[in-house]
Amino acid sequence: MARTVLVTGGNRGIGLAIAQAFAKQGDRVAVTHRSGDAPDGLFGVRADVTDAASIDAAFTAVEAELGPVEVLVANAGMTDDTLLLRMSEEQFTGVVDTNLTGAFRVAKRASGKMLRAKWGRMIFISSVVGLSGGAGQVNYAASKAGLVGVARSITRELGSRNITANVVAPGFIDTDMTASLSDDRKAEIRKSIPAGRMASPDEVAAVVAWLASDSAGYVSGAVIPVDGGLGMGH
Ligand code: NDP
Repeated sequence: MARTVLVTGGNRGIGLAIAQAFAKQGDRVAVTHRSGDAPDGLFGVRADVTDAASIDAAFTAVEAELGPVEVLVANAGMTDDTLLLRMSEEQFTGVVDTNLTGAFRVAKRASGKMLRAKWGRMIFISSVVGLSGGAGQVNYAASKAGLVGVARSITRELGSRNITANVVAPGFIDTDMTASLSDDRKAEIRKSIPAGRMASPDEVAAVVAWLASDSAGYVSGAVIPVDGGLGMGH
């Protein structure tokens, strides 16, 4: 059955691959984009996840065009890495505001219509770093670990209404976010991954699409790693 799907940060990287996977299987797909244009063939709404009013406007536009959001993928995210001693409070709260509070804002906005429909799927894109930690990533790791608490609390609150909430924790994926790593650092990372390679965004998208499918209806509050064995299931 075709569903209405909204992917935040769906204009590039992992978010775009997720949006394309849903579109390929015939769903009605909308993406939020903050900068740049909407990708070809997908319904794009401009939104910044740090701004509740802009999220509300984006949902209203999607509802008018495609119907209420049934599958929400909270994917928009950023890094601002530096060592603890040097990290300013603004660097900490800025990353948390986008990655964690941003996910809370979209989940809250989506929940009303999901409750009314007595059906919904929420998928939060975390990171292997959320559970393993990362040097220079106190802000990012905290924001990604927080998503586990969000998804599990939503599972407890809304689970009886046929609404699931899960976390996908990617390892190293080939996108703009990892493109800035030096070749030496990439070689070092590859050595630490049992699979011996980074992944393509499509490999994350396939897991997200499965979590939204009817076959995954009894999976909720889970953290699913897509990391080539890096976190060993945490
Ligand atoms: P990219 O940097 O390629 O894309 C990030 C996306 O998030 C862009 O669409 C960007 O929009 C959007 N975004 C960032 N801040 C905001 C904001 N305030 N409001 C709205 N949209 C925003 O990242 P990836 O595709 O690599 O990452 C996607 C998700 O996966 C992130 O949550 C990331 O933390 C996570 N992840 C990535 C991994 C990797 O190895 N790449 C590993 C583990 C997790 P814009 O184009 O306007 O900047």
